Amino acid sequence: MLSELWNENIMSKEEKTIEKLKKELLQLGPMLPGSISEQYNVCGKAGCKCKRLKEPIKHGPYYQLSFTLAGKSSSLFINKNDLSQAYQMVKNLKQFKQLTIELIKANVACVRKNGLKGDKND
Ligand SMILES: [Zn+2]
Repeated sequence: MLSELWNENIMSKEEKTIEKLKKELLQLGPMLPGSISEQYNVCGKAGCKCKRLKEPIKHGPYYQLSFTLAGKSSSLFINKNDLSQAYQMVKNLKQFKQLTIELIKANVACVRKNGLKGDKND
């Protein structure tokens, strides 16, 4: 393709890395912060198996996503059927953070090598 040829000739290695990382960032699916844990609960029902003195069996597992966002801690429960999707979304955010760091590094490397170009239309 013509545009790829153009990129090949004009873009530096660092600029190509930046474009590649931006594309990868755009391709990431939906994200969730935090981590997922298993919870076991005790209910309020009298005589329930979860409350007996000998070998109580708690209810669960329930799956809870816990996270801190902008300094505020929060959590939400995840339906067992949605668990693999939720794990994937948590993974996507980790990938997003990793790519963001790589993108910033690539930008620094680009400026270090090529300097700041100012307004190209001048
Ligand atoms: Zn119970």
